[in-house]
Amino acid sequence: MVTVEFEPTFERWQAAARALLSDGVSPADVEWRERPDAPPAPRASKFFRVPPRFLELARQAATASDPTRWGALYDVLWRIVNERRDLLDDRGDPGVRRLHGLAAQGRREAEQAERQEVLRLQAEGGGAAAFVPADADLATLAKAAKQCRGCPLYHDATQTVFGRGPADARVVLVGEQPGDQEDRRDAPFVGPAGEVLDRALRDVGIDRDAIYVTNAVKHFKFVLRGKRRIHQTPRLSEIVACRPWVEAELARLTPETLVCLGATAARALLGDDFRLMRDRGRVFSTRWAPQTLATLHPSAVLRGEDAAAQERLYGMLVEDLRLAAGAAR
Ligand code: SF4
Repeated sequence: MVTVEFEPTFERWQAAARALLSDGVSPADVEWRERPDAPPAPRASKFFRVPPRFLELARQAATASDPTRWGALYDVLWRIVNERRDLLDDRGDPGVRRLHGLAAQGRREAEQAERQEVLRLQAEGGGAAAFVPADADLATLAKAAKQCRGCPLYHDATQTVFGRGPADARVVLVGEQPGDQEDRRDAPFVGPAGEVLDRALRDVGIDRDAIYVTNAVKHFKFVLRGKRRIHQTPRLSEIVACRPWVEAELARLTPETLVCLGATAARALLGDDFRLMRDRGRVFSTRWAPQTLATLHPSAVLRGEDAAAQERLYGMLVEDLRLAAGAAR
């Protein structure tokens, strides 16, 4: 019998499972023991390729509170590698059924924890609020934001990426969060999505140097896939936690025109009822600006499935920004 002591996270389980597979240890011979301070498993001597679907389900199942989940995951993994690569197609298999059950439990528990965290933040005014200096100018806010620990996102990102632009900007654009390039270069909208935005702004005659550009969430949220950092949409609790920063920016700027780029920014500033594809391009008054509207995030253009789709999405972005340009004149 092999006893595996490991920090109870998906990544640490994955590393331990790889090492066990390399050594040919069957599930019946493994005892999984959670230990928060356990060191990572040694590097596996062999490489195993498994269906991405398994990884996705296992990642969700790993978040369930059932202590027996690790053994159940290893059992399915073992059989995928050693018996049937298409095991997940067999929905009648007890191990596969259990994996789906654990994944559903993990999702349910995560949603419940998320709801509780949002309620707590709303009731107690937690998150970034404690880090936002009162009556500070934009430069002071930007400096203070570097120290923010209002949610866990600061932990893995390189730095806080605050808004940029003149303090007297009449037009403010709010995006979702910094991306990989923005996180490295400490500036909003300088990566591929920033290039799309620059082109769209040029097309509608908005001078980027004259506007203020920021994000609803100031730290880059991602998961590591090998060496790549893959963007993750912020959770509602993270948006709520970070909201005091964008509120402080808007309170200092008092723009005439505010444009929310994408669903996350719209959700942060316009509420949960706002539906981007239904309500985009409608100009209305909010407490932030007399002319407020929302449009696609420029990264949505890049995600279009082919050139025609990208052109169509880009057309929507330009159409809405043209409204913003008109409103700002
Ligand atoms: S994402 Fe926002 S609230 Fe969270 S640590 Fe960063 S600045 Fe603070």
